[in-house]
Amino acid sequence: MTQQVQPIFILPENAQRTYGRSAQHNNIAAAKAVADTVRTTLGPKGMDKMLVSNLGDVVVTNDGVTILEEMNIEHPTAKMIVEIAKTQENEVGDGTTTAVVIAGELLHKAEALIEQDVHPTVVAKGYRMASEKALQILRELSFEIKETDEASLHRIATTAMTGKGAEHAKEHLSTLAVKAVKSVMEKAEGKIIVDKDNIKIEKKVGGSVEDSELVEGIILDKEKVHPSMPDSVKNAKVALIDCAVEVKSTETDAKIQITEPNQMQGFLDMEEKIIREKVEKIAASGANVIFCQKGIDDLAQHFLAKKGIFAVRRVSQSDIEKLARATGGKIVSNLHDISADDLGKAGLVEAKRVGDEEMTFVRECRNAKAVTILIRGGTEHVVDEIKRAVEDSIGDLEAALTVGKVVAGAGATETELALQLRKYGQGLSGREQLAVNAFAEAIEVIPRTLAENSGLDPIDLMTELKAAHDRGEKTAGVDVFAGKAQDAWKAGIIEPLKVKLQAVSSASEVAIMVLRIDDVIAAGKQDSGPKMPPMPNGGGMPDY
Ligand code: ADP
Ligand code: MG
Repeated sequence: MTQQVQPIFILPENAQRTYGRSAQHNNIAAAKAVADTVRTTLGPKGMDKMLVSNLGDVVVTNDGVTILEEMNIEHPTAKMIVEIAKTQENEVGDGTTTAVVIAGELLHKAEALIEQDVHPTVVAKGYRMASEKALQILRELSFEIKETDEASLHRIATTAMTGKGAEHAKEHLSTLAVKAVKSVMEKAEGKIIVDKDNIKIEKKVGGSVEDSELVEGIILDKEKVHPSMPDSVKNAKVALIDCAVEVKSTETDAKIQITEPNQMQGFLDMEEKIIREKVEKIAASGANVIFCQKGIDDLAQHFLAKKGIFAVRRVSQSDIEKLARATGGKIVSNLHDISADDLGKAGLVEAKRVGDEEMTFVRECRNAKAVTILIRGGTEHVVDEIKRAVEDSIGDLEAALTVGKVVAGAGATETELALQLRKYGQGLSGREQLAVNAFAEAIEVIPRTLAENSGLDPIDLMTELKAAHDRGEKTAGVDVFAGKAQDAWKAGIIEPLKVKLQAVSSASEVAIMVLRIDDVIAAGKQDSGPKMPPMPNGGGMPDY
């Protein structure tokens, strides 16, 4: 008698499940697809991508994290890879493509091992060992950098901008980035702190990239409130106010009954008196410029203008705070208390037309702890991409200064790292050694891709590069312009150690996590549409 085998269902009907090899294969394929997307953008000769949203908005960029964020990726494993780029962006601000490309390659190499029947957990263990060793080797390969070393800071900023839309003006822009970072840099207990929030980046379409400038102070996207106020104020004494310069409106709806015409006049006179007093208070403090977070009444505008005071209203809270850091002023909440001590200083405050918009420049603040970089460029897409490049270089400068360590770029550090990892692998047992070697090969994806993206033969170049490292030339990297190996350090291609540490550690963490998955259970998509009511008689044609 044959027994009937009943299948057992433990999952809802529309759930999808893949397991074993096929789950691993799918996951790795998804990760590789993400890495391949951004791979062609890596390095000075990397290409750009054009992304068009469903609303028709266009973004042209070379920036890894921007590409991945705009792509709206859905596959769960692919999303995990996108997370690497986001972490990299938040922690360092640069190296997003590098991190994603390494993760993709780690999984690609792992797949080859799995196909040779090395169990995924063995690969995962080997990868974990290799990644710990890699972080240690990277630290050993780094050089110290001091904040006084202007030339090197400049090179870090330029390296970050190479190959972006900002390429042709990178000298000018990196000067701005270095100056900005050095202005806001602070030292506490011997440690350097750079708060990127104190560097405001404003963009205005128009002019050329070379017209971009650093303002030691703040640029506001606002105009003065009254046309007869002065256009510029030298030696400005700046009042920062976070209450309104108006007659207080009553909290509840009050009704004022006026029965005679002179009562009306009395009422208006009263209002005028209050406003006049407020303006007098401001003037008495010695302020000749005010920035107000709230509104400024028409009448107050008129009185302020008559006194020659420059005023801007409805300045955002974050800008008021930045103004306080830039000018050294205190934010005043009650006009009755305002005094000369509360005022900040700026060499020049001016109203200026940039492009087709009126803006206010607060310049020449001495020891400004908040600064602004104004980015100019031919079109919206150009200024956006330049802003991203400048942000990358500011991130790199921060990472270099706060950690105080840098490494050679152009694939030099990755090549040396791979070489040393292989040496480390020699002391391990067979299968772990295989995994460590695979890890080393995966790291070499960086110099290989730099060569590929420059139209060079990756095999020739890698052979030359490895030979140089075998001879002990630890900083030999890719010269993408001459198509051969060169000393990247001497060529001034410098990157912060932190970029490499973060890229290697997050890429390997995610690769290991993906490798350990052997079962993917996906709940079916929930039906969001309205449910049809059940048809009588089980649907179909009615019985007659
Ligand atoms: P990421 O998003 O990873 O920062 P990038 O497109 O900025 O990607 O490329 C960074 C890579 O380009 C780094 O490996 C860096 O060393 C390399 N690189 C930068 N400038 C040069 C150069 N002049 N020659 C060769 N490689 C360079
Ligand atoms: Mg970069």
